[in-house]
Amino acid sequence: SKRESRSRAMLFSSRHVLQIEQSTRIERVLREADLTRELAVYFQPIVDSRTGKAVAFEALARWTSPVLGRVSPALFIPVAERAGLVQKLTRVLLEKALAAAEQWPDEMRLSFNLSTHDISSSEGIVRILGIISASAIDPKRIDLEITETAMMYDFDQAKAAVELLRQLGCGIALDDFGTGFSSLSQLHALPLTKIKIDRSFVSCIDKTPASHKIVKSLLTLSRDMGLDCVIEGVEKKEELAVLEKLGGRLIQGYFYAPPVPEAEVARFFPEPRLK
Ligand code: C2E
Ligand code: CA
Ligand code: CA
Ligand code: CA
Repeated sequence: SKRESRSRAMLFSSRHVLQIEQSTRIERVLREADLTRELAVYFQPIVDSRTGKAVAFEALARWTSPVLGRVSPALFIPVAERAGLVQKLTRVLLEKALAAAEQWPDEMRLSFNLSTHDISSSEGIVRILGIISASAIDPKRIDLEITETAMMYDFDQAKAAVELLRQLGCGIALDDFGTGFSSLSQLHALPLTKIKIDRSFVSCIDKTPASHKIVKSLLTLSRDMGLDCVIEGVEKKEELAVLEKLGGRLIQGYFYAPPVPEAEVARFFPEPRLK
């Protein structure tokens, strides 16, 4: 009815207002925050399903604000992007992630997320190159994750940034693959080393024929392009069974582990080999 649709519209707009108020509040607190103290990095293992052991860890930001409590990165990263604060966050997070990874076995890789604004200026990218060069980690052990959407924001600029990172030796993972609208010719023009299939294609893959087809073709595509392929958001053993049948090997998701603090990372390392 008309009345129903009007009240639904009001509900929507009041929710929208709440979201704007929330973002404004987050922005205000974030500007004043002691980022070095309040930001932490958690690590989620990326597991080779054949061995059940980690081959890499994705660094994921955690913010505990004395004012707001715990705030999800899905909320504060977009706010930081819009407020022009993301480069400051990235510096703190990347330094913490690298310091943790310095303690890991040599073969273990670190995956780190970059935002649109991290790669949208040459000063931004130079700063990231500087932080990586200053760490004791071989850049070849680092993968930088860039979403398909961030890559398409300013394609030429993103391409230049990615080329610089590749020159230093870093790998480049296309994050949330399949959710953006890049064309194959654009993908081919980027020196990618890895793609990450978004979790929206994986949930209930054991019951949804459409998802099954999409993941199958994305796996084939990555193989044909010579890229590694990480499958995100695997929660159930039924999903894992389907993915293994399709040839998916690199798995990230709650089935193996949620993101964990630095102190818990070691339990996912392979057993040390006897010399
Ligand atoms: P993302 O890069 O796609 O990271 C994966 C997200 O999926 C993480 O959420 C992770 O905790 C969650 N996840 C992993 N496995 C599962 C699963 O099996 N089921 C479900 N339901 N979720 C799973 P998180 O940590 O809340 O981060 C959300 C987003 O915030 C990230 O999505 C990324 O876009 C952004 N983000 C997080 N940390 C950083 C950072 O340091 N820098 C930047 N630029 N963005 C970050
Ligand atoms: Ca990511
Ligand atoms: Ca992702
Ligand atoms: Ca995502």
